Amino acid sequence: MTNEWLAKDTSRKVKIALHAKFAADERTFTTAPLGYMRHPENRNKLAIDPDTSWIIEKIFDLAVHGAGAGKITKILIQEKIPTSGYINYKKCGQFAKIYENAPAEKAYAWNIRAVSDILKDETYIGNSVHGKQTNVSYKNKKSIRRPESEWFRVENTHEPIISKDVFNQVQKQIANRRRPMKSGRTQIFAGLVKCADCGWSMSYAERKYKTCSTGFFNCSRFRKLGKVGGRCSAHYIRYDTLYAYVLARLQDWIYQAHTDEKQLLSKLLKSSDKEAAKAHKKQSAELAKAEKRKAEVDRLFVKLYENWTSERITEYNFKMLSQKYQTEQQDLVEKINRLKTELSVEKQTTADAEKWIALIKQYANPTELTAEMLNTLIEKIVVHEATKDADGMREQEIEIYYRFVGKID
Ligand SMILES: [Zn+2]
Repeated sequence: MTNEWLAKDTSRKVKIALHAKFAADERTFTTAPLGYMRHPENRNKLAIDPDTSWIIEKIFDLAVHGAGAGKITKILIQEKIPTSGYINYKKCGQFAKIYENAPAEKAYAWNIRAVSDILKDETYIGNSVHGKQTNVSYKNKKSIRRPESEWFRVENTHEPIISKDVFNQVQKQIANRRRPMKSGRTQIFAGLVKCADCGWSMSYAERKYKTCSTGFFNCSRFRKLGKVGGRCSAHYIRYDTLYAYVLARLQDWIYQAHTDEKQLLSKLLKSSDKEAAKAHKKQSAELAKAEKRKAEVDRLFVKLYENWTSERITEYNFKMLSQKYQTEQQDLVEKINRLKTELSVEKQTTADAEKWIALIKQYANPTELTAEMLNTLIEKIVVHEATKDADGMREQEIEIYYRFVGKID
């Protein structure tokens, strides 16, 4: 499921409309999560999909009997269980680019991330959780995580597939699986470090040499599928190297925020201008296209109505076509609203930059990193493959994307 239903939190209008929807036990979504479908009588409500809910039941059943996400993924692949992407393709032609002419394995190409997401998704116990992510910054088009305290949950919005008992048991098992590393090093970077080339997470491991162990990250896709199968390389980086770099960058920003806040603000705004211009152009074009199509559909609809009243078409055809136009109209309205909100977000640059400065100002002269600090300030850390320069020196690019302001240096 995408977060498109949450059309950013800056447009009061859209937000208020969405809140009204949640209160009415409705949710806005583009694609129903696996196991569910659009309710036949209410397109903003979920109904259990009898064709696919068994997959969800199977995943939770395996989990409650002790299998982790990795093992479950293997089983799903072995048993050729179709993925939700493939099911959507089969049902309505979505993602045709990916699945058309793809090898048969593509249909059941499950990955650990998809399985873990399902295992943690409260949708399956009948809840709707809103506000997990937001797109407040145009620099991080993808979305920004919100702290759990800001989520809001509406219980029993639809029929559950999984019982609360089973779900809670599985959550406990997931928590227990997260065992600390041999060296006792805690995973402060968990979920933040990404491979620059394939976009997968970088995973942490330790290598023991004599009495000392070295922690490092490498691309999880490379680690899992290899160079050939994964079409990615190691992107190896030592834990110490990453730690020192990130700490130095944060110390620098924190120092600037405390000493010359005004200058830092203008620096942030300058660096965001270029990105903003790019994003703005693309969104404006998309908006114009959607608005044009909306006008066209409105016209077609009027015409259809005229044809029906003058009995040029049958009642059956009228119903069928009007349904089709209405669905498209509704989708277009959603898209137009989303784009308008996104475009209005771009004018929020100053507010975003100020928000981030307020966050970094909470810290003074940090000498070590904590998970809390990293998650408060940083959206993601992208690690590139190392290269050797002319003198044979190892060089490696690390990009830090900060929350609200994106990449700034
Ligand atoms: Zn990679």
